[in-house]
Amino acid sequence: MDYIDKVLMEQRKFFYTGKTSNINFRLNTLKTLKDLIISYEKEIEKALNKDLNKSAFEAYTTEIGIVLSELTYIIDNIKNWSKPKKVKTSITNFKATSYIYPEPYGITLIIAPWNYPFQLCFAPLIGSISAGNTAIIKPSEYAPCSAKLFEKIINNNFPKKYIHIINGDIETSKVLLNKKYDYIFYTGSTSVGQIVMTKAAKHLTPITLELGGKSPCIVDKEGDLDLYAKRIVWGKLLNTGQTCVAPDYLLVHQSVKKELINNLIKYIEQFYGKNPANNREYIKIINEKHFKRLINLFSKSNIIYGGQYNLENLYISPTLINQDSWDGPIMEEEIFGPILPIIEYETLDEIIEKINNRPKPLALYFFSSNKEKSEKIINNISFGGGAINDTIMHLSSPYLPFGGVGPSGMGSYHGKKSFDTFTHYKSILKKSNLIDPNFRYPPYKGKLKAVKKILK
Ligand code: NAD
Repeated sequence: MDYIDKVLMEQRKFFYTGKTSNINFRLNTLKTLKDLIISYEKEIEKALNKDLNKSAFEAYTTEIGIVLSELTYIIDNIKNWSKPKKVKTSITNFKATSYIYPEPYGITLIIAPWNYPFQLCFAPLIGSISAGNTAIIKPSEYAPCSAKLFEKIINNNFPKKYIHIINGDIETSKVLLNKKYDYIFYTGSTSVGQIVMTKAAKHLTPITLELGGKSPCIVDKEGDLDLYAKRIVWGKLLNTGQTCVAPDYLLVHQSVKKELINNLIKYIEQFYGKNPANNREYIKIINEKHFKRLINLFSKSNIIYGGQYNLENLYISPTLINQDSWDGPIMEEEIFGPILPIIEYETLDEIIEKINNRPKPLALYFFSSNKEKSEKIINNISFGGGAINDTIMHLSSPYLPFGGVGPSGMGSYHGKKSFDTFTHYKSILKKSNLIDPNFRYPPYKGKLKAVKKILK
């Protein structure tokens, strides 16, 4: 029996003691986790800085702070969420009462990527614990300092029969995926998402897939272009574009293209200076493989601004590309870096059709002061979620479930939805033995007319 089998066996045994689903046990675990995160805050910051040179500000606002506020929200609410809820009973079930019992799935596997290493390991973990499951967490091998620290935080403070970090390379992920779980929560690329789904299919394991893709950002001619540019540059360059919901490409009405580009350049320089290579708040590209992939993506493009790079410190400057067509590698794969292709358009109908002919995006952003146009975009394009007149911020709200659709993912989480995702809602009918109406029992002769009066 290998190590993973042993952990799985222990977790299964522990789960069936019923301890993990005890509400006070869940609450205590979440509170302990919160205290641990607070006590390790500086170390988490340091690890994120080593892996991605994330600033303390971004480490807190996009990772630690998000996880802490999720914890606070869930701690305040799980007592209520975890109670069985009484629902109406249909007349055909007279006399009875009906309930929905939330129950944990059992053993959950959480696989995370490297771009927000802390948030994407711990936010799903909170969902899993709050719902009463056990969890095995596999952080990304591409953010090794973070992965090592998470192992210390979790494995030194919780028994492996309950919550356990397993570190390793892609082979470890493959070995983990060959085992049987009760739920798999995967965050990462669409191509690996397909592998995860195939593996889950073997045991019909329910899954959440939080994937990526190309998220369009559309700028209409109506509204405050200066403000739009500010919010787009912020969303694109957060984590240097290595964000699943970063605006991937920009569609701008041809009448305002020039003005928008001038404003984009203004904000790039205002936020990061004329040479971001010297700016400690400008994050590096994760590794050489991704660095080379990005250089290849834009090397033959029509660069309007930026285009500088340096392999030694994995630096790629904020780069704006004039893109004449919807074809070519830069319009096919998810960019996941500080490069923004800009395409002009004339009518919304034209771009709605183009976007609908592509895989459904994880996010979409529409900038306009015209409410009718916003509704048109929301109602005519399918995408995971998004924002009108902003970028990325929709995922910071516990009241907005976050996830993709189809090729950009399935299922969602954050806030109550994190609890729901890791919960099976079991429907229970409690029948009275006092009376037993005869209409459903054979012989059926003469009963159909009466049934039709009820079931219509
Ligand atoms: P990735 O798919 O390469 O890796 C993610 C995880 O999968 C890692 O832990 C890795 O060990 C494992 N993995 C990789 N190859 C595997 C294989 N062949 N078999 C089994 N497991 C394997 O993704 P990444 O490069 O770490 O992350 C970037 C991608 O993640 C982007 O596409 C991005 O959009 C997406 N993403 C999505 C979200 C979201 O919430 N929807 C958040 C962050 C990132």
